[in-house]
Formats: sequence, C-alpha cells, structure tokens
Amino acid sequence: MKRIFVIAALCCMAAAVCCGCGSAGPRLVQSADTAMGTVIQQNIYTTAADSKAAEEIRVLLQRLEEQELSRRLDTSEVWAVNASAGEEEGFLLSEELSETLEACLELWRESEGAFDVTIGALVSLWDIDGWAAGEREGAFDLPEEEALQKALESCGSGKLELDGTTLHMPEGMQLDLGAVGKGIALDRILSRLEENDTITGAVISVGGSVLTYGEKPDGSSWRVGITNPADTSANIGILSLEGQWCISTSGDYERYAELDGVRYHHIIDPDTGYPADSGVSGVTILSKSGFLSDALSTACFILGPEKGMSLAAEYGAEALFVTKDGSVVMSEGMEKYYQAAE
Ligand code: AMP
Ligand code: MG
Repeated sequence: MKRIFVIAALCCMAAAVCCGCGSAGPRLVQSADTAMGTVIQQNIYTTAADSKAAEEIRVLLQRLEEQELSRRLDTSEVWAVNASAGEEEGFLLSEELSETLEACLELWRESEGAFDVTIGALVSLWDIDGWAAGEREGAFDLPEEEALQKALESCGSGKLELDGTTLHMPEGMQLDLGAVGKGIALDRILSRLEENDTITGAVISVGGSVLTYGEKPDGSSWRVGITNPADTSANIGILSLEGQWCISTSGDYERYAELDGVRYHHIIDPDTGYPADSGVSGVTILSKSGFLSDALSTACFILGPEKGMSLAAEYGAEALFVTKDGSVVMSEGMEKYYQAAE
C-alpha cells in the first residue's frame, strides 16, 4: 500500500480543539476512507457548519473510478475502450479521456516509450491488481517467456490510432491508467475545492499522491512525508510546502510479489516486460498538476535519476530519487522544500 504520511494531521488536531472552544476560525474536518482501491485521507479546514465536503470528495473519487478509469469494472469508460480493441469502427472517447490520452501519448514520446498506458496486457499477465488487493497468497510464478512476448506484442502506444476523439486499438491491447488515476483524482479534487469558498485549506492524500491547498489557520507550512523505501514505516524526509501543490511517489515497495528473495514490483519496463530496474527504489515528483506529478513519478522511476531528472525539468516539475543504496538525489528546485528526517 502506498504510504505517504501527512504530518499535517497531527498539528491540525489543535485547531479542531480550538474550534470547540468557540473560535470563529475555520474548523478541521478529518476523514479516512477507501476509494479507487486505495486509502483516502482528508484534512479540510472549513468555515461551514457541516462536514459535507469530505463526503462529496469521496463520492467524486468513487465515480471517477466506476464511470471513467477502472480497468476491472464494466461500468467504466476505460473498460468499454478495452472491450472495443480490434473493432474496425473504433471507440468515440469522452472529451476528458481523449485529453488524458493525448497527454499520456505526449509523455510516452518524451520518455522515449518508458511511460506507456497501453501496458494493460503486461499488468494482467503479472497479475499486478492481484498483488494490490492482497489476493496473492503463497507461491508466485514468473510469467512464461512465450506469454511475456505475446503480452509485449500487445503493448505500444505507437500502435494506437487517435483520429480526433475516435480511438482505434489493435486486438489484444489494453489501456491501464493506473499510473495517472490518482493524479487525475487530485486535479478533480482541486477543482472542487476551488469552487467551495468555505474551504480555506486542505491536505488530501489518495494513495501515494497528495494535494495541498490553501493555508493552515496558524499560517504554518504543509508538511508531507516521503516514505523511506528501506523502512516503509518511516519517512526518509519531509517536504515543507506553502499553498497548492501535488506530490506523487512511485516506489518498488508499494505493490510487489517475491520469489527466491527477488522482489517483482508493479512498474513495468515496456522494453523488457519485466519490473523496471533503473537503480531506484522510490521517486517523488512535485508539481502544480496532479496528472503530471503522478505520470512523471512512474516515468522517472523507469528512467532513473539522470534521464528522469531532465524529463521532470521539461515539465517544470521537481524530482527526488531514492536510489537502491539509500542515497537521495534531487533537482535543485526540490532542495528548498526538502528536509532529511532525523
Ligand atoms: P504508480 O504507482 O503511479 O507509479 O503507477 C503504477 C501503475 O501504473 C502500475 O500498477 C500499472 O497499473 C501502471 N504501469 C506499470 N508500468 C507502467 C508503465 N511503464 N507506463 C505506464 N503505466 C505503467
Ligand atoms: Mg504514477
């Protein structure tokens, strides 16, 4: 499970207590739920008397999964797109999915194919969703080489045809938006927060992606922890941030299965069909955009520090890599927000 610990929560408790003492300032509403197959933690400062905002956001995320992004639910658009693979007439995409796909294709080009949302057949072959749900008990078998080659042949954004908003996918190809879903969720949450003038500040995490918004009543910074891949119960460092940001982390500790002491994780190198091995255990991206923070964290994990750093820079994002030997390498812009854990 993705674990970015939002330190803000503890500090916020004080504000909630204050509110009970009759202060006129915003009060804190906290909630923890599951949606999109992950844990959603919300800390919202609001001047409203009710706590509706957190519930509305939970419903928003549930709908995003059920109606748009899920690969497993037959109610979603992505499911319908995948069912259309090989059909001559193609699939007429919604405006939202068409824009998302365009942005994913740009990232595929810019990452020289490392980031590829047509990777669904490989994700299914490795049964990555099974690892996530904790369904994988006992022995884990590596995919057969022949099956791996066949799945690899079904992948490749270069084989997609996007004609306006009509998408043609070859037979066997499957879209998987797992690398960007939580980032898209943050962008949708941000729009919702901006529409609500009773909300003065919030920090909301959707799995390994965190949104900070507005300010805390005491004026202090948002503090977002970065998990230590070598000890996922601890942070390797903390980012101190003001106002609105999106922070996403991709790590080899989030979903994996082990065989003979080797860890097979959920971020696949489209060149080999195997879990990416670029020498890093975790990558954190800081961006104003949820989509970009999430997409880039996955892409940079596959590319490794050198190429990943320049890809992030191209998109105006800051990047932090935790290498397999535990070193932390970051972009210059990230340094002003980062503090190593004691
Ligand atoms: P994240 O945790 O955001 O890095 O996303 C990882 C998820 O993205 C995996 O569980 C897969 O669903 C999907 N994925 C795996 N490899 C890739 C890849 N090379 N390009 C795009 N998506 C991928
Ligand atoms: Mg991602």
